[in-house]
Amino acid sequence: PATMRLDRFLSETTPLTRSLAKRALKSGEVLLNGKLVKQSATQIDPDEDAVMWGDETLALVGMRYIMLHKPLEVECSARRGLYTRAIDLLDVPKVERLQPVGRLDVDTTGLLLMTDDGQWLHRITSPKRRCDKVYRATLADPLEGEAATWAIARMAEGLWLEDDDTPTQPATLRMLGPREAELAITEGRYHQVKRMFGALGNRVTALHRESIGPLALDDSLAPGEWRELSAEEIALF
Ligand code: URA
Repeated sequence: PATMRLDRFLSETTPLTRSLAKRALKSGEVLLNGKLVKQSATQIDPDEDAVMWGDETLALVGMRYIMLHKPLEVECSARRGLYTRAIDLLDVPKVERLQPVGRLDVDTTGLLLMTDDGQWLHRITSPKRRCDKVYRATLADPLEGEAATWAIARMAEGLWLEDDDTPTQPATLRMLGPREAELAITEGRYHQVKRMFGALGNRVTALHRESIGPLALDDSLAPGEWRELSAEEIALF
């Protein structure tokens, strides 16, 4: 939007709620282009007008695109619960606006993208786009020889998972060792990787997301560390 109400601009650029923003305006804490303004309904152009609250110059935050190496015992939910939330690891303004691009379980590690750009998020998560998510899974039971060949074929064909009304889309399984598997899936169903190995009579004991589409987890990020994506990385989707 080209213009917006001043109280809304304040609530988007400061920790103030809308009603506290109105109060700050009334009590003369806000300057618009160097002049005191008290009317909440004043229309401003966020790109052109200079708004100061106390000695702070305010600017809308643009869209954010973040890559996080999600550690164990961190949850993707926005609600405060038992575990640290992914957004608690990020030191950015208005962090509660960031959404995970496809959730990871609390005991899954690896690549988690976070953004406040809903369209970008949708492009990545929409099942129609068939964007590959690659996971490395550690298995409870070794999978070798003919059993591995069979598992690769079943994953490629699609599996019926309990409670789902369609089979899974073709997935690519590659065995890296008897208990180390790499599985590429194009959907994001609830506990999908664990349930797919469960459907084959095995069990996942550790799970790590390596990549989403063409974007791999940055090796230099330790668990719990994050960085912003580059313009080139954002443009991959
Ligand atoms: N599949 C799972 O089972 N868990 C995840 O966290 C991601 C994919």
